[in-house]
Order: sequence, then C-alpha cells, then structure tokens
Amino acid sequence: VSRLDALRAELERLGAATFLVHHPVNVRYLTGFESSNAAVVVGPDRALLVTDGRYIEAARSVAGVEVVQSERELAPWLGGRLRDLAEPPVAFEANRLTYAGFEALAASGLDLTPAQDVVEDLRSVKEEEELAAIRRTTGVTNAVYERLGAQELVGSTEAEAAWRVEELVHEEGGDDLAFPVIVGSGPNAARPHHHSGERRIGAGETVIVDAGAALTGYCSDCTRTYVAGELDSELHAAYELCRAAQEEALAAVRSGASAHDVDAVARTRIREAGHEVLHGLGHGVGLEIHELPRLADTSEAILAAGNVVTIEPGVYLPGRGGVRIEDLVIVTDDGAEVLTSYTKAPVSVG
Ligand code: ZN
Ligand code: ZN
Repeated sequence: VSRLDALRAELERLGAATFLVHHPVNVRYLTGFESSNAAVVVGPDRALLVTDGRYIEAARSVAGVEVVQSERELAPWLGGRLRDLAEPPVAFEANRLTYAGFEALAASGLDLTPAQDVVEDLRSVKEEEELAAIRRTTGVTNAVYERLGAQELVGSTEAEAAWRVEELVHEEGGDDLAFPVIVGSGPNAARPHHHSGERRIGAGETVIVDAGAALTGYCSDCTRTYVAGELDSELHAAYELCRAAQEEALAAVRSGASAHDVDAVARTRIREAGHEVLHGLGHGVGLEIHELPRLADTSEAILAAGNVVTIEPGVYLPGRGGVRIEDLVIVTDDGAEVLTSYTKAPVSVG
C-alpha cells in the first residue's frame, strides 16, 4: 500500500471526502517532496501537490501527484481555490494549523472536518527502508558516544563538550544534529532539558549527554551519563537505580504492550526509591525527533511492531546531579530491538 493510499483508507472513518495535509514533514512523508510551503490535497482517486513558484520545478519530479502552483501565502490562496480542488467535507490537520490559517481555509465556504494525528499515526509504524535509515543514523550516534567516552571532559565547559559532540556527529557522517546537544553537569544534570552553558565540568559529577544525528531526514536519539572520577554513594545509587529502571522498562517493550504500562515499570521503581519522576519514559523517533507513540503516564497508545521509540528514564537529585540513560529501540513482536549500542555501565571521563 502506498502512503497516499494508506491515508485514503482513513477518509471514510473521518467522514471526509478529501484530506488536506500541509505540515511539511507530513507532506514529505506522503510524497517525498521537501518544502517549507506545500500542501497535498488527497482525494479518493487523485492527489494534488500544491506549492509556490520557488519549489514548482522540484515538485514536477514527484510521482503520483498532480502539481498545482500557488501563491507564496498558501492558506489564503487555498481559501480562494479549495472549492475547485477538493470535494467536501475536507479533513484538515487541526493540531498543525494556526487560527489564522483556519480562518483563511474557512473562507472557502467548504465543510471542514478537524482531524488530529492521522498522518502521524501512519508515520509511527516504520517501513523497512525507514528502519534501515534509522539504523544508519543511530550508527552515527553510537560512534559519537564511543569517541566522546574516550575523551577527558573534566575542565571543559558544557558548551565546549556540546560543540565536540556536534563535530563528532559530522565527522561520523551525520548530515546534522537531530536537536541541539544537551550537556548537563553537576547540579545542571538535575534539569532534564538543560541548555548547555558555561559551567565547567568538575570531578565527582555526573555528566548527562543527550544527542542525536540526522541522516537522510531520519533522526537518532541517545543519552548516556558519563561520570567524572568517583561518584559519592548517593549519585552512585542514582546511577544504578536509573540503569535498573531502564533495563526493566526495556524488557517490558513488545507489540501489544500499553505505552502507559511500560512507562509505569520505570516510574514505579524510581518513585519507590523516593525520587520524583520529571518526565515520561520515551517517545517515537523518525523524520522528527519527537513523534508518536508517546510513552507516558497519560499515554493511551498501544505499542505496535515497527514503532521506533526511546526508553529514557531519569533520576534527578535537585541541586546535586542527575542520571538519564536513553536507548532507541524498534518494537517487535518478541520485544525491543535495541539500536543504541554504547555501554550503559558508568564510563569515566575525568
Ligand atoms: Zn534524547
Ligand atoms: Zn529522547
């Protein structure tokens, strides 16, 4: 089944005759076309790829679509022309459209049906070629962590360490970072989304390094916590707790498992040891760094074979330090195929 056909199969359930997709990553997923300003109008037996003059030449090489040239301001243009292009009711990406964009589409006078996460749900189950791409980009990250772990980081600032990670991603063949590198040392390691700064990494600290590479559009995501010299008993216990919670959650991953239940495995273990849980266990990864399914307390997702998800519990000691260990895995019928290969034993960089 082509990706466009997979979307067509959802039309009836949505009560729509046409699906208007404008989120750039979803347009890329459906057609292979990369543009910051494009839409696909998907009906039962044709698909229109709409984009402005800057992209029109590239759009003409896309198979399976008819190309329509728009003005630069896509939403108002669609508002004026949608009547000629789409059979109503028209489903649209309600969680991706701005209020102004919605008003522009509504000017068409067509019956509009809000839909959420329809293409995102299709994207959450990866095809073989997507899995191959994610294996390659994770290979970049794996090499980066091996090389970083062989370096002395004590005395460097977090920002310097983050820059070194960025260099290594390029040296190992990555196209780009999947997201800005997080390096959190000492008390900053207690803040899950810390921005790497001017703090110098000191002895006796944990150093959280969270990084991913982008390669051929696909992302990888890995976190390891390095140790700078000897940890005191409290930080050492936090490390062992995080590692045990991560391994237990990993063992609970398989198709058919509820994302809530897998999250609860790590959450319960960390809470019972007396720590607060500051974030969900993980998220899907693919063309974007945060995709479906989410693994969290509030998640209603059921894991499916072909999902690619992170398993990344954290144990945080406010003001003192923290530990996070993140693997990227493919969900299979038998369990988790772990793509991240770097050791989860504490590696000293001091
Ligand atoms: Zn990460
Ligand atoms: Zn992550």
